[in-house]
Amino acid sequence: MKTERYHTRLQWVGTMECPRCHKITWAWQSSGMSECFPHFFCNKCSNVIHRKEDQRLVWEEKSQALLDRIAATLPDCPCGGRFTPGANPKCVHCGADFEHTSDPVERLHDERMTVVDGACVFDGEGGVYRVKIVGK
Ligand SMILES: [Zn+2]
Ligand SMILES: [Zn+2]
Repeated sequence: MKTERYHTRLQWVGTMECPRCHKITWAWQSSGMSECFPHFFCNKCSNVIHRKEDQRLVWEEKSQALLDRIAATLPDCPCGGRFTPGANPKCVHCGADFEHTSDPVERLHDERMTVVDGACVFDGEGGVYRVKIVGK
C-alpha cells in the first residue's frame, strides 16, 4: 500500500487531544479548498472514504435523500467495520471519537477531511493510501 508521509511541521498537520484519555493523536487535515467532500469514516477505525461519484451527486445540493442514497452504497472497511455517515476519526490510544459539530447532511459539504496517523484513505475504485505523520 502507498504511504503518504506528512511532516509535523506542515501547516495541515496537527494534534487533537482525546476527550476521554487526554492523550494526543496526530492527524493530517485537508484544506478548505481540497474538494475532499463528501467523505465518510469507518464506524470501527479511523479509515475514511472519499469517492468522486458521491461528489458528483452532492456538488450542487445536499439533502437527507442524497445522503441516504450514498449511504446505501458505502462499502465495508477492511477492518470489518463500515463506512457510515456520522462516524468520526478516533483516538489512536483508546478509540474514543473526535466528534464533529455538524450533522451528517451538513457534513456532505465538509472539505476538511481529518486523517489520523496510520489511517487509510480509500477512493472507492481500488485506490488507497495510508497517512503517516513523521517527525513526531
Ligand atoms: Zn483517547
Ligand atoms: Zn475500519
